[in-house]
Amino acid sequence: MIRNLLCMTAPVREGFEIPCHEIGPASGHPGVALVGGLHGDEINSVFILSRLADFLNSVEAGTYPELKLKKRALIIPAVNVLGVNLRTRTWPFDKTDINRMFPGSTIGETTQRIAYAVLEATKRADYRIDLHTASTDFEEIPQVRLYDPTDQERATAALFGLTAVMERTMSPVFTTTLMHSWKVWPGQSFILRVGQGGTVQLDHCQRVFRSLVSFLGRIGVLEGVQIAAEDEEVCYFDKQSGFRVFAEKAGAFVSDRQVGRWVRQGQELGYIYDSFSGNVIEKVISPVAGLLTGIRRHPLLFEGDLLLRVNRKA
Ligand SMILES: [Zn+2]
Repeated sequence: MIRNLLCMTAPVREGFEIPCHEIGPASGHPGVALVGGLHGDEINSVFILSRLADFLNSVEAGTYPELKLKKRALIIPAVNVLGVNLRTRTWPFDKTDINRMFPGSTIGETTQRIAYAVLEATKRADYRIDLHTASTDFEEIPQVRLYDPTDQERATAALFGLTAVMERTMSPVFTTTLMHSWKVWPGQSFILRVGQGGTVQLDHCQRVFRSLVSFLGRIGVLEGVQIAAEDEEVCYFDKQSGFRVFAEKAGAFVSDRQVGRWVRQGQELGYIYDSFSGNVIEKVISPVAGLLTGIRRHPLLFEGDLLLRVNRKA
């Protein structure tokens, strides 16, 4: 079933709605809640969750007789529905970041009402997952992000079958995120970060789609999933394991490396060219042996811009 999470009116246009899929058994609290597009330019998240909703609706319709939803899945593919239309990260009318508006309220600004509705719909779920991407200039490996995780969350993170699980501490500054608000509720909370903003990266999206389907199988929301034996190991990385390389000179950075590959210390990962003469002015090398977890995709650089991140295995 698709319903509208919130209907809003606008002064000089038609009203607009935030779609919310509720799929599977109607009784009780949701087994899983998935949220995407809190930032309107993070298209990978919107694409993955709209495809997942379509898939689970097909399961409910009987298209896959071997599969059955045992618990309800709640999916909000695009919270910042206007930002998705206008390709903006923030809420277009007042430029606010919806992920700085939690827990929200029923009587405040539009974005506060949106935040409140999202939290109300999702907070009682057993498992809660918020999907994001990196910026439009930078690509990150599809990864699970944990913030001050419980031992249970740390163990559950492996069930996604993604190579990288990144552990972070909760920011004492940004206490108004959805993750922060989820944390006070029973249940487990995860962020998935997938690739680069502003685009659909089909490889990453298909990978994460499959990982979400296996995850739903492993947590008992979706019965009958054939879990493929993952050959890749799951690595847990803390902040100290990340080594970042910054541009020493301005220019044009190009690289044909893929995120998610293991690299050697000293391996060449890209070049900075002089934008006008075409000369190579810097070879960019990996500072350590490890997993290439992030790389700049916008070529034009200022000195000091982040080029790449390699995480060393613990
Ligand atoms: Zn985001």
